[in-house]
Amino acid sequence: MSALSYVSQDKDSAWATWLSQVDRVVPYLGDLAPWADTLRHTKRALIVDIPLEMDDGTIRHFEGYRVQHNLSRGPGKGGVRFHPDVTLEEVMALSAWMTVKSAVLNLPFGGAKGGIRVNPRELSAKELERLTRRYTSEIGNIIGPQQDIPAPDVGTNAQIMAWMMDTYSMNVGATTTGVVTGKPIHLGGSLGRVKATGRGVYITGIAAAQRIGLEIHDCSVAVQGFGNVGSVSAALFYEAGARIVAIQDHSATLWCESGIDIPALTEWQRENGTIAGFRQAETLRSDDFWLKAYDILIPAALEGQINAERARNLNCRLVLEGANGPTLPAADDLLRQRNITVVPDVICNAGGVTVSYFEWVQDFSSFYWSESEINQRLDRIMNDALRDVWLQAEKLNVTLRTAAYAIACERILIARKERGLYP
Ligand code: GLU
Repeated sequence: MSALSYVSQDKDSAWATWLSQVDRVVPYLGDLAPWADTLRHTKRALIVDIPLEMDDGTIRHFEGYRVQHNLSRGPGKGGVRFHPDVTLEEVMALSAWMTVKSAVLNLPFGGAKGGIRVNPRELSAKELERLTRRYTSEIGNIIGPQQDIPAPDVGTNAQIMAWMMDTYSMNVGATTTGVVTGKPIHLGGSLGRVKATGRGVYITGIAAAQRIGLEIHDCSVAVQGFGNVGSVSAALFYEAGARIVAIQDHSATLWCESGIDIPALTEWQRENGTIAGFRQAETLRSDDFWLKAYDILIPAALEGQINAERARNLNCRLVLEGANGPTLPAADDLLRQRNITVVPDVICNAGGVTVSYFEWVQDFSSFYWSESEINQRLDRIMNDALRDVWLQAEKLNVTLRTAAYAIACERILIARKERGLYP
């Protein structure tokens, strides 16, 4: 358990998952192993109070965070989550996963993450804007294009990034597009960024499926989460000829053995604001999602979804982690024993941060690439990274997760060691 005084002793917490993932990679770090403790600490964690005047004139307080886990390889990078269950400890784990993710893809970033403990659906657009602006001001002295670059995550989007960019720019007195990524296109955003995370799940999914001998057009796929990541990956697998047999989100669990019509479901969600009530599929009890048989499972919602019990019953060949931290460590071991391949979050969902990197580079050079250039570069970077992780897993005889961590932690800790301790 954690030596930090401000984290819980909950063994299923996201931070506990992170610590146990670090423990698993230490035996493969060789001379760098003595530096591994760096990874068990966050470099900087800021908690801010966000007082917000509601539309009815009352004032409410929200808790906000920005955590920089490790900056050895470059400025912090990572999203901002607006969700009622956000905690400091969760943001710490998410920031640590960003450190590894950037390093697996060899992007010149460290890891960071932010969040506000709020349900954005309960706020009006004006309240959301005031909340975002005050949060940005409160964390303003630790973010910046060379310091730490936020991006969207669960519950945030391009509009929120536009408000963050504007607030930061107002405070420093100069328009600073590179302070956030995932912005609207006409404000320095990158083509392809919105779909990049889902596209990355698809790219790594196709490559992994091929390696374990699955033909995509014969595959059935189940997706948990139908937000930015789940809906885009579902659409791409659907276009490639796979049958999307199950979709689950907080509102419903849909099932259709012959395959859900994803464009029709997307249209239904756009019109109704939910996937619930979609008539071209059966509605299941939510637990049944985990008991059905399918070839590929894409958890693309929140952490901790695949616990030991679910891992014991899971009837699939391949898990593509669209979400961050969806698999608990005990479940990871069971999936390995059961020969179910897991493409871990730190590579599977890294398409978003990879195109964020492209966006940041484009903002600095004020020169913008076409969508096909972006997608080609994304494809190449992700396929190369997956190949390296796969080879490493074979070489060390470990899971893809431990292999990805071995590659990433070596890069992070070499940087740490070469920079040396200050003072
Ligand atoms: N929130 C996304 C993630 O978890 C993207 C982060 C970014 O683009 O910086 O990877």
